[in-house]
Amino acid sequence: MKDKKPTILVVDDTETNIDILLELLSDDYDVTVALNGESALEIANEEILDLILLDIMMPDMDGYKVCEILKESEKTKDIPIIFITAKTDEDSIERAYEVGGIDYVTKPFKPRELSARVKTQLNLKFLIEHLEIIASYDQMTGIYNRRKFFELSEKRFEQSRENLYAVMIDIDKFKAINDTYGHPTGDEVIKQVTKTISKALSAESIFGRLGGEEFAIVCYLEPNMSISEHLESIRKSVDNLRIGVGRETLIQCTISIGIAKAKAETKNLDALLKKADIALYDAKGGGRNRVIFRS
Ligand code: GH3
Ligand code: MG
Ligand code: MG
Repeated sequence: MKDKKPTILVVDDTETNIDILLELLSDDYDVTVALNGESALEIANEEILDLILLDIMMPDMDGYKVCEILKESEKTKDIPIIFITAKTDEDSIERAYEVGGIDYVTKPFKPRELSARVKTQLNLKFLIEHLEIIASYDQMTGIYNRRKFFELSEKRFEQSRENLYAVMIDIDKFKAINDTYGHPTGDEVIKQVTKTISKALSAESIFGRLGGEEFAIVCYLEPNMSISEHLESIRKSVDNLRIGVGRETLIQCTISIGIAKAKAETKNLDALLKKADIALYDAKGGGRNRVIFRS
């Protein structure tokens, strides 16, 4: 997928303009064409676009309106839009930026300048996406970091609390593993435990590393399913894990798990996690390597 060409949508009601842009861009990009605003919106909603070149003067729906609608939708709001237009007055230019355009090129455009602007905006977009990934995932384990975990979980909590659970997980006596085998081996244990838990979770579950050897999950579960059984099976998988160090040593580790279920009166996500944390504390106090559910 990495070698895939960036995708560009060209929107213009004049076919000759479209032909010129296709000629200019088709070698380097996957170019799709729309001859009016309506079909531009349709394409933007159906396809994954990296950039839009948008004419302003079009019958029925003008480019400003198209841009405004795209900026309102979660799916399309981050697609950079470059206006390409015959309008050269300052009011038109100002309006283009006001509605969310990222750049403005006047017709007749200079082909190499347009290419350079397209390239610059695409580079910026990919840089932003890369930063978003770095800011969202824990580097060591690849699961959500604390910040992203809370962001997604809060959204989930606001959507619905029905059958929503919070789970806190902590590796038992992890300090002893570090002390005995060294920090890099400790890291390997964290990675293997994370992998084992990840494998057992549904794609919709939000799984994050809150810090050190502490993890949390926020997930929905079908009413006919038992959350305790689900986590008990995860606990067992970790218990059965053997992590190789050097040639001979195999490390075994266990986790303690606290679960809480959201209720109508649960104030917010923090309150739900707090309850799961108390359950985790009980699991530790009860001897570790166990699951405690506070319904
Ligand atoms: P408990 O069963 O009560 O949870 O005991 P514990 O030893 O697991 O808990 P404690 O909080 O005392 O120790 C956690 C240790 O985890 C201390 C810290 O040095 C270590 N740690 C935190 N982050 C990392 C990390 O990224 N890598 C490694 N290897 N160790 C870490
Ligand atoms: Mg621990
Ligand atoms: Mg800890």
